[in-house]
Parts: sequence; C-alpha cells; structure tokens
Amino acid sequence: MLLTESLKNILEISDLQEKFLFEELKLKNISDLLEYFPKKYISRIKIDNVSEINDKLLDNVIDVTGIILNFCTIETKNKKKHLEGYIIDKNNNKLKLIWFKKIESIPKWFKEKNTYTIHGELKKYMNEYCIIHPHITKDKDIVTNNTLVAYYTTTEKLKKFGIDSRFFRRILNIILKNIQIEENIPEYIIDKYKLMPRYDAIKNIHQPTDNDNLFSARRRLKFEELFFLQLNIFQTKYKKTVDNIGYIFDKIDYVKKFKTILEKSFELTNAQKNVLKEIYSDLKSGKQMNRLLQGDVGSGKTIVAFITMLISVSNESQAILMCPTEILAEQHFMKLKQWCEDLEMNIALLTSSTKQKDKENILKKIKNGEINIVIGTQSLLNDNIIFNKLGIIIIDEQHKFGVYQRGKITENYTKYSDIQPHILIMTATPIPRTLAMTMYNDCEVSVINELPKNRKPIKTIHFYYSERLRVFNFIKKQIELGQQVYFVYPLIEESNKIELRNLNDGYQEISNFFKNVNISIVNGQMDFEKKNAEFEKFKNGESKILISTTVIEVGIDVPNATVIVIEEADHYGLSQLHQLRGRVGRGDKDSFCILMTRKQITNTSKQRIKAMLETNDGFKLSNIDLQLRGFGNIFGTEQSGKIKLKIADYFNDIKILKYAIIEAKEIINDDPNLEKNTFLKEKMLEKNSCNFGLIV
Ligand code: ADP
Ligand code: MG
Repeated sequence: MLLTESLKNILEISDLQEKFLFEELKLKNISDLLEYFPKKYISRIKIDNVSEINDKLLDNVIDVTGIILNFCTIETKNKKKHLEGYIIDKNNNKLKLIWFKKIESIPKWFKEKNTYTIHGELKKYMNEYCIIHPHITKDKDIVTNNTLVAYYTTTEKLKKFGIDSRFFRRILNIILKNIQIEENIPEYIIDKYKLMPRYDAIKNIHQPTDNDNLFSARRRLKFEELFFLQLNIFQTKYKKTVDNIGYIFDKIDYVKKFKTILEKSFELTNAQKNVLKEIYSDLKSGKQMNRLLQGDVGSGKTIVAFITMLISVSNESQAILMCPTEILAEQHFMKLKQWCEDLEMNIALLTSSTKQKDKENILKKIKNGEINIVIGTQSLLNDNIIFNKLGIIIIDEQHKFGVYQRGKITENYTKYSDIQPHILIMTATPIPRTLAMTMYNDCEVSVINELPKNRKPIKTIHFYYSERLRVFNFIKKQIELGQQVYFVYPLIEESNKIELRNLNDGYQEISNFFKNVNISIVNGQMDFEKKNAEFEKFKNGESKILISTTVIEVGIDVPNATVIVIEEADHYGLSQLHQLRGRVGRGDKDSFCILMTRKQITNTSKQRIKAMLETNDGFKLSNIDLQLRGFGNIFGTEQSGKIKLKIADYFNDIKILKYAIIEAKEIINDDPNLEKNTFLKEKMLEKNSCNFGLIV
C-alpha cells in the first residue's frame, strides 16, 4: 500500500463511497485519509461480563457484545410510552436498554441470535443499570480493550452511504496495518524537541493507546503542520526579498507643503510621527514596502495614509486608497479633496456608483497621470485600471477584506510593471501575535499606540428598554447643547426570524419623540446617492440624529457627534461594539456610548457588555473577545482565509508555532532553495495541500 494510492484500490471502499469521500471531504488518496484527523475521542470501556458493572462506571461510555431480546413497550403513569429490551452477554448476564423514540420500529431491526455490539453511557433508571438510546453495530466494532475511541466528522449524506466514524475506524485500521510511513522532519529536530516519530503519531492519533500517547501524537502532528507551513512562508518571503525591488521615493515636497496647511488644525501625535518615519524609511530604501499599520479606532490613521500618499505624489507617482464601504470611500474623498485642492493635486473617487461617463473620464486621467490619488472600494480590484505610474497602494480597514483580496490587489496592479507598488495595510482590529506571525510574516508592523491629546474617554452606559424615556431625555439635552446623535439598529425591517427592534420602527419611535429635530436615516440597501445625501445632511449638521444600520461601523468620522445609541447591543460582537463606539469621542467634547438591551440577555452577552463598560482599549477588548468566542470564530473565516489548519491552532499552540518558526527560518536562511535539503524539498511537495500562494 502506498500513500499516494487512490482510495479505489482499497477493496473495502465502494465506488460510491469513494466518490462521496472526495466530493464531501476532499479525501482522494491514502495519505488524505491518514491526515483526516478525528474530531474527538470518547473513552470507551469494554465490558466482557455484565455482572461486573458497578456504580464507578456510571456516566462512562461502555461497550457490551451479546444478543438483544425481550423487547416490551412500557406505559408510565402519565401515559408516556417507552421501549425496553435487554442485551445478554455470553455468560447470560442482562443489561437493560431503553428507547424513547422509534419505539415501533426498533424491535424489527434485530435478528434473533445475531450478535451485536452496543455502546453508550451507563445510567441508572428506576434503580437498574441501563443504556438509553444505545449505539448499535452489527458485528464487533474496532475497539480494543479500554481505549479512547476516535470520532470523525461526517455529513448526513455520507452517513447514508455507510461513511460514519465506525467506517473510518475500520478503514484506517486496515491502512495502518499495511502502510509504511516515512519520517518527514529532519532527525535533529525530532531529537531536539523529542517529537514522536511520524508513524507512531499517525497511528496514535487514530488509535490512541492512552491519553499520554495521544498528547504526544497531537504535539508532533501540530509541529509538523506548522513547520511545513513556515518553511513555505519563509521560502516565499525569501524569494520576495531577492527580487522585491521597490521604487525609491526620497522626495517629500508635497509633505512639506502640507505641513503648513495641517499646522492650522492640529499637530500629529508622536505615535503618528514615528509611524511616518518608519514608512518613509521603507519608501526610500529601494525595497518594496509591505507594512501593516495597527491603530485603535480614532487614533488617526487616515492622516498617516494621506501623508504616505503625498510621498508617492512628490515622486511623480500615483497612489490608491481602498476602503471596504462606499460611504467610507466617499468620506475620505470629501476630506482629502479639500487638502488636495490646497496642494494643487488631483484626486478622484471611483466606486461602483460612479457614473459610466465620469468613470471613463477618470480612467483616462489615471492613465495619463493627471490624477494623483484614487480613492475607492473593492471595485478598484475589478476594473481594468491602467495607471501612469502607481507608487503606493493603501488598504483601509483591512480586516474587512480578508486575505484573498490582499493577494488579488497586488496581483492586479503588478502586471504592468516590473517594480511592485509599495503597500500599506491599515486596521483597527488588533491581530493576535500568533496570527500576525503567520499571515503577516512578510510584513513589517507599525503601531499607533496613542490617541490625539484632546480626546476624553467615552462614557459607556448600559440601559434596559424599560429606561428608554430617561435615555431619550438625556439625548434631548445633548441635542440642545448642539451635539449630534447616532442610533444603530441590527435590522432594517421587521423579521419573522428574530424578534429585534428594527430601523423602520425605530424611526417612528424616535421621530415621534424628537418632534422638531431633523433626522437622517441610512441603511445598507439604499442606493448610494440617497444614502450619501442623508449622510451628508448629518455630517454638515443639518440633521441632528442619524438612524442607521451597521453601515456606519467602520471609519465614519463626524467629530460633532457625541452620543451613539446601540440598539439590542447584545446582538453584536465585541469588536463590532468597539468599532461602533469609536464613531463618537472624535472631538474634545464629552462623549457617550449607550448600550440598550432587554432585561433577559445571555451570559456571554453580559460579559461582553461588562467588558465594554470597563475599558476603552481596543487591544484589551480584542483579547477578551478571543476568550469569549474562541480564535476560530473570529479569525477562521474572516482573517485566516485559505490558511485553515488541520490540527494546530494559532491561539493555543503559540509555543509550538514559535519553535516551528525558529527551525524553518534557520533552514531557509542557510539554504533558501532547499538544494542541500533535498529530502525536505521532496516532503514539502508532498504537503502541498494548502494554497500558500494566497497568504503572501
Ligand atoms: P482612525 O484611526 O479610526 O481611522 P481617523 O483617521 O478617522 O481615525 O481620525 C479620527 C479623527 O481624529 C479625525 O477627525 C482626525 O481628523 C482627527 N485627528 C487625527 N490625528 C489627530 C491629531 N494628531 N490631533 C487631533 N486630531 C486628530
Ligand atoms: Mg479610519
């Protein structure tokens, strides 16, 4: 038997099963099956003699083999029926079995005198030992004495074709007996970290002899996974540094001019200045910049982005700023347009709402170099934009895009020139170090770790809907003081799926109370013109209240708005709540974030709200969020994109990851093309199941 052998060649797998194993689980050869790791283990105790059962075994999963008979339906006092039967072992001892469902059909399943193996949790019912709804298998299941039994993820469809956990146990048992598995990690590393040999690890992950061995097997396979991932990343990174020539941007004429303009409004914080120094030193180095800029909401990333673009323009090159929403793109455009006019530069906005005629005109001017800065949304990726000379790409709120686009954006804009544009990625969501080490391994990281001086902490308060009037009266006072207010709703209209307050009803309620106040209303489904008109009214102070869905979540900047009311606040994630709260506290006035909920909320929601009341610090909240939701939920789809791990975990296996990085780095530094390590090169090819190209 060979690792690359297709599943067809295993006699025990039918053609249909082979087909579905591939379609549903992408398992096509023996190696895939061996690396299809169990989702959990249950400790099953094999009982040879039912008379040995005692209270110590209660709640344990036990295995009994015997014949099944003596079915009878029992009706209890309250007219509830259930089915009882017995399994009789070879010594004629009986154990009761109980079913509450499928009472009619179950007795028909069993053939008299056939032997079955049952397993399930041992319980006591009416003072008698029993198993309720036991799992039953016709012949002997592959369970050795008192072991941890592996359970595998399958689908309903697969189960119909006999592909369940027992199927995997049976097939893997055959494979493990007939296969030779070679080591794929250099011996010195195995010795250094006392890793379990590869064959033993694979055997123990499927058929653990005990908990210790299972632990060692998992540790080894986690290391293996992270080690090969890192080898690949370091190799790609190395290739990039070899041929990653970048434009040399050393002139800063426009930056100097802008300084005198900016001085009239505010001074940059030290953190902003430091980050700009780091960026400038990248830009003039002759290598392509690949920098990640992290800064909490309101820390002033936009101005840093703008100055970075000015460096590009000072060197006769163009720049792009890409945003996740049209509203945000529009806002950046309006803000930067003013400055660009003062600097006698040309800026354009390009989104899917841009009219075809304007678009053609803009594209022409981008091509001939008249336009210096382009602001836009994802549509910047789809359009076939030809630049005169594109120097810098900036991505705002990168966490909203995911990894895939990051690959795509560079791919799109690098085909016109041998030299790749510089890249700056901005995000307010702090990325845990572990993930940053993998995903942004090729990036330098800058952090804006201070807020502008004039800021006052935002006061966060939690109210129940029963206190609505108090909240409204408070808001009334704020509006009288000249301030503006956001109301955020989780839904636009009534839904029969979830019973939550919605935007339309909210508008009725709010406009009834605030009779002489101008109100704007915005939701994601409105067409852009309308949405923007409403938003503009709020921005220029014409309307005092903005009722909105979470379209305003990222980036929106109206310093005069000092209150945000988040409706049904228990229905948002912590980072989303923090982003929403970041819409206020952008000026020097006292600001408030009001979290409205019903009386009854879940415990996790309570913890989230408590965290919001306790801190304004995005990094702290991100850590709490991780604890509450688990790593996979937050970064599984949105952040880690295609780099799904089979067994390791970015959050819990940081130590293993560190060692994997150390070893991989050393190997690639010494032998970037693995010419000396042909063995590793070969093993790396075997492990190519992951599309690494998209990460970096
Ligand atoms: P974010 O980092 O969330 O993108 P913004 O760039 O939107 O933050 O900045 C938030 C607000 O702070 C804006 O109104 C911006 O003009 C202002 N701002 C930025 N830097 C400073 C500073 N150094 N001093 C005072 N205000 C600043
Ligand atoms: Mg921003």
